Amino acid sequence: MMKIDLAGQTALVTGSTRGIGLGIARALHAAGAAVAVHGRSAAQAVAVAAELGGTDRAIGVAADVADPEQVAEAIEAVESAIGPITILVNNAGMTRDNLLIRMSDDEWDAVLRTNLTGAFHTMRAVAKGMMKRRSGRIINIASVVGIVGNKGQANYAASKAGLIGLTKAVAKEYASRNILVNCVAPGYISTDMTAALPPEASDALLGAIPLGRFGQADEVAGVVLFLASDFARYLTGQVIAVDGGMAM
Ligand code: NDP
Repeated sequence: MMKIDLAGQTALVTGSTRGIGLGIARALHAAGAAVAVHGRSAAQAVAVAAELGGTDRAIGVAADVADPEQVAEAIEAVESAIGPITILVNNAGMTRDNLLIRMSDDEWDAVLRTNLTGAFHTMRAVAKGMMKRRSGRIINIASVVGIVGNKGQANYAASKAGLIGLTKAVAKEYASRNILVNCVAPGYISTDMTAALPPEASDALLGAIPLGRFGQADEVAGVVLFLASDFARYLTGQVIAVDGGMAM
C-alpha cells in the first residue's frame, strides 16, 4: 500500500497551538515532517512542540500574523532551526461576529488583518525560497462561510473569500515553479471557535449538515496531509470543502 511520507519536509502551521491547526501539526509530524508549531504565545507554542516530540523535528515559534516583521523573524527562526519551509499551512484565524450595521472598524480590521493579510505575509515570506528550490506546497484554511456567506460574519466571510482569491492568484503565479497552492474550506468543526456558539445556533447548524454532526480537527488534517503529499502533485488552485456536505 502507498503511504504518505513527509520525511525531509519542513512545515510551518500557523495557529497550531490548539484546534484545527494542532490537528494539522500532529498529522504532518506523524507523517515524518519537521514541524513548526505557531501561535501568538511563545510558551504555548514551545509546550505543544515538546508534546509532538523531538527538538530536531518540532519547534515552537510566536508571531502575530498581522505583523509582517514578527512573521519574517519567526520564519527566519524556523528555517535556521529545522530547515527551509517546504510546506506552509495558513491556519491562524479568528472571528469577531456582528451584524453589518453594528460592526466596528476594529472588528472589521482585526479579522481581515489576521485571516487574510496574515496569510499574505507568510506566503510572501516563504515564496522566494520555494521559487529557488522550484518546489513548495501552500495550503490555506478558508471556510465554507467564504463560499456561501453567513449572517453576522461579513468580516469573516470577506476574509475567507479573499483567501480563496489569494490562493488562486498565487497558484497561477507560481505553478511554473512547481509551487502548489490550495485551500481547504472546513464547515463546522468542534474547536474553541465553535464552542463559543450559543446552543440554539448549534442546533440550527446541525440541521444544515447532511452528515448530521460537526467535524473533528483530524478530519480537516487528513485532507491537508493529502494536499501536502505526493498524491496531490497535479492539483493546484482548488478549494476542497470539508464540511459534512454542507456546501454542495
Ligand atoms: P482556534 O480559535 O481554536 O485556534 C486558532 C489558532 O490561531 C490558535 O492557535 C491561535 O493561537 C492562533 N491565532 C489566532 N490569531 C492569531 C494571530 N493574529 N497570529 C497568530 N496566531 C493566531 O481556531 P480553529 O481551530 O477553530 O480554526 C482554525 C482555522 O480554521 C481558522 O482560520 C478558522 O477560521 C478556520 N475554520 C474553523 C472552523 C471551525 O468550525 N472551527 C470552520 C471553518 C474554518 P493564539 O491565540 O495563541 O495566538
